[in-house]
Amino acid sequence: MSEKKIWLSSPHMGGSEQKYISEAFDQNWIAPLGPNVNGFEKDLQSYLKKENIHVAALSSGTASLHLALILAGVERGDEVLCQSLTFAASANPIVYQGATPVFIDSEEETLNISPVFLEEAIQDRISKGKKPKALIAVHLYGMPYKVDEVHEVALRYGIPVIEDSAEALGSSYKGQKCGTFGDFAVLSFNGNKIITTSGGGALVTKSEELKRQAVFLATQARDEAPHYQHSHIGYNYRLSNIAAGIGRGQMEVLEEHVSKRREMNQFYKGLFGTVKGVKVFSEPENTYFSNHWLTVIKSEENGVFKTEDLRLFLENENIESRPLWKPMHLQPVFKDAPFYGNGVAESAFKNGLCLPSGSNLSQEEKKRISDAILSFLKTKML
Ligand SMILES: *Cc1c(COP(=O)(O)O)cnc(C)c1O
Repeated sequence: MSEKKIWLSSPHMGGSEQKYISEAFDQNWIAPLGPNVNGFEKDLQSYLKKENIHVAALSSGTASLHLALILAGVERGDEVLCQSLTFAASANPIVYQGATPVFIDSEEETLNISPVFLEEAIQDRISKGKKPKALIAVHLYGMPYKVDEVHEVALRYGIPVIEDSAEALGSSYKGQKCGTFGDFAVLSFNGNKIITTSGGGALVTKSEELKRQAVFLATQARDEAPHYQHSHIGYNYRLSNIAAGIGRGQMEVLEEHVSKRREMNQFYKGLFGTVKGVKVFSEPENTYFSNHWLTVIKSEENGVFKTEDLRLFLENENIESRPLWKPMHLQPVFKDAPFYGNGVAESAFKNGLCLPSGSNLSQEEKKRISDAILSFLKTKML
């Protein structure tokens, strides 16, 4: 294992990030406000290309979800619907609010929230006396969820949608960018995401007033007064001007990152194309456009190989791959939360694998990956 480690997804700088950081230093804008914060918000707004979109740059995707729940009116004792197959950060802020998550299974095509179990859950919760206060739906690994079907159900029951687009900046559905569908949407710029600010996130709102409220809460909820006066509980959730500078540089290379990651998806389709019983997840229809943040494969139960064997084989070659998110309803910490579904998320977790998908993988690294996968397949079939 002398060769360098190949990561699942690692930060990829474009080059102009340092220019924005230097500007911040030169002007002594090191605080959590300043020209880069405003500039980064503008860049995101114009990238999302939707009217009436207002972006607040925050310290993380998790913080953005938390503020979305607060602004959606989620309080102690409420229930919030949430996709089960996701990263824990989608669900944790529900508990920060003292509310209870109600987890929903995935459908097979996009691995995202099933509109069928969503409706079943809503009806059952209502029949038990409590209408869920909000829904968190996730574009997992960059693949848009079934936006029309999911939002139709939510709208019919008057439940606001928080769109967790942390993994899906650059994805779109029917030509509209992910991050613009929900009543609120959340982006993340953590280190392994499609663009990074080293750590950061954003909340997308549908009005200037909601953005103002988000920024108010994110900066310790200070009332207008010369002294420090508070009539609300506040948070320290604003993005720093330094991190936002990295974000501005990263926005210049976002489209390039998307096309590189999409190439990686094609690369794996080529490698696994003829292998029976293995599915490389791609868009189910051409109305979907995924940034393919991570390419996911799934092997059939009793298929030619176990994805865990492939993971171990790659690890031995110093190549990182990773099981899918372990569904929230199977997590010890959420063992008492209600769940509606029939095992799709669980089977994706058992038989799925995320493969190295970075936008910065070199030709040599790709060669090492394909050599490793081909020799693994040989051990299974010849
Ligand atoms: C990364 C991620 C988050 C949280 O974002 P952070 O910026 O890391 O707090 C939330 N949801 C999903 C699906 C994510 O992948």
